[in-house]
Formats: sequence, C-alpha cells, structure tokens
Amino acid sequence: MNFCPRCGTALVLRPEGGRPRPMCPAEGCGFTFYGDASIGTGAVVLRGDDVLLIERRTGTRVWWQIPGGFVEVDEPIHTAVEREVLEETGVVARATDVVGFRHAFGQPDRPIANIYVVFRLVAESGDPRPDLEESFAAEFVPRARIAQHEGLSSMSLWAIETALAAPSTGGLSLEPHREGLHRPGHTIFRAPGLGAAQG
Ligand SMILES: [Zn+2]
Repeated sequence: MNFCPRCGTALVLRPEGGRPRPMCPAEGCGFTFYGDASIGTGAVVLRGDDVLLIERRTGTRVWWQIPGGFVEVDEPIHTAVEREVLEETGVVARATDVVGFRHAFGQPDRPIANIYVVFRLVAESGDPRPDLEESFAAEFVPRARIAQHEGLSSMSLWAIETALAAPSTGGLSLEPHREGLHRPGHTIFRAPGLGAAQG
C-alpha cells in the first residue's frame, strides 16, 4: 500500500509496535497500515449421515470442498456461513457450533492474513443445486464415501472428519446475549466445558 486509503496522501514508513509501518503523515489523519486481514467461513452441513459438498472451478482447476466464503464486515460470522451455504447450494441450514479454524498468515513483505472458521450446520430444508457462479455442483455425500471422494480438498476433509468425530455440539458455541458483556456488533463464542453459562 503506497497511498492513504482515507485521504490519498503518500504513506511514509515510521516505527510503531516494534517494526516500521506505512503511516499517513497528513495532519489529523492517523491512518496506519497493519496489513490486510480477512475472515472466511466454511460449512460442514449435515443432513442425517450425509455431508454437503460443492465443486469449485478456477481456470482449469477443478476441486471439491465444503461450501463457505468471506464474511462481510457488517454481518455476524454465524449468519455469514448460513448465507454462503444458501447462496452456493440452495440449502437452508442452521449453524450450531464451531469445529475449528485455520489462521493463514503472511510475511513482512506480503502482509496478507486470513482466518477461516469452520462451522457445523444442520440442514433444515432445500435440495442442493449449484449457483453456477461459485459452485458448479452441489450434493449431499454419504459420510462413508467422504474420505474416498475424488478431488476433495485436504482442509475440507479435515473439517468434515473433525465435525463428525465430535459430539453434535462439541465445539465453540455462541454465548447467549448478556447485558454488560455484549456490545452492539459483538458476537462471543465459548469453548466447550469452560466456565458456567449465566443468565
Ligand atoms: Zn491519510
């Protein structure tokens, strides 16, 4: 990043927090570039003993994975994963808990990072169909055939096996709303077996 996204001024390198960072020198702006971080979600959607898979294509590459996508900056993450499933497969599903996440981090000269949070969801209605923009096939696959499914990404296989191995709600669960704890725009997740639910 060379120019301030707020005011357009050329950024300069200044030390902050132990390393030089691009900062905006304009009076009163105060922009500092900490790198590009994004949030993605993946969905292990269960319908009985079946798991929802989609086919993705970019250029000549074709592979299968669980549905999911980027979280918009103005939506809760558990709502985002349900939205992505509906968009990519036509299946209405409800997120129950988090089974794990991946942190993909960058380098000082390539400051791009991503957190990909995998949810477990229960399918409620709808038969799978691809949107033909992001998904080119969508189907429920019996869990016994998942490990042999050709072209399935290793991350998706890990997510599915982790979700299937744990109890139905054994992952991080949404903390019920509590006055004084939650602020507007905050969603909090709790690790299983830790603390006591209040209120
Ligand atoms: Zn600026």
